[in-house]
Amino acid sequence: MKNFFRIALSLGVLAGLVLERKRPLRRERESKLRRNGRNLVVASLGALTVHLLEGPVIRPLTRSVERQRLGLLNTDMMKKLRLPRPLQILSAVALMDYTLYLWHVLTHRVPFLWRFHAVHHVDLDLDASTALRFHFGELAISVPYRAAQVVLIGVDPEALSYWQTFLSLSILFHHSNIRLPRSWESALSWILVTPRMHGIHHSNEPSEAITNWSSGLAVWDRLHRTFRLNIPQEKIHIGVKGIDTEKQVQLPEILTQPFRNVPEVTAFLQKPER
Ligand SMILES: [Zn+2]
Repeated sequence: MKNFFRIALSLGVLAGLVLERKRPLRRERESKLRRNGRNLVVASLGALTVHLLEGPVIRPLTRSVERQRLGLLNTDMMKKLRLPRPLQILSAVALMDYTLYLWHVLTHRVPFLWRFHAVHHVDLDLDASTALRFHFGELAISVPYRAAQVVLIGVDPEALSYWQTFLSLSILFHHSNIRLPRSWESALSWILVTPRMHGIHHSNEPSEAITNWSSGLAVWDRLHRTFRLNIPQEKIHIGVKGIDTEKQVQLPEILTQPFRNVPEVTAFLQKPER
């Protein structure tokens, strides 16, 4: 099954790369080659951080969850339900996905977290390479949160790998610059986060950026009434207001951004509505 997902991931990436060229959803502002190169450097630092920090903490933790029967999904009440294995995995994936929705909201509202998450948002265009462009600091900071998710939910190694695969496929898909037929998007957005949905979250208009927080299943935005699909992509300016030029988003600028005071980034911090 794991091999099936690996093959699906590789084929998905290939199909996505072709479709982004053939059927782009948004017109791009920067040269693709330069931007993708920059995003890949940020992505490599991120991958190294996950390899060195997240893996060695989270994987052993899932084994402890399995051995010691920790977390919500291993409580006596859940055991009495005798859920079949596929449903147990589905529950773990859904709960990981929902708690990631909450984490995403926090990254826009807590000033310290926003400093790091903003590196993902200042990209002037949005495509599959943006999906990989998370500052290594954000990935490091999220490790304790991920550990809490795993222990509180009760995620075992197999469920974790299903969630990771689902999340990887989903974020590549909804960041991609692929124009799907509108009717497909409308139908699909009942289940999954779609490129138009996530494009609205990346808008430099604060009232639009506080929508579509989900990372996998779109149901969380539907339930929290943060779902939006009614803004045409041509009207959206991708990025953070005030950060509009290539000069502001060069590699040294974005890597050091969380550690500097950037007024445009601070001004874009989301205040909870009253
Ligand atoms: Zn965001």
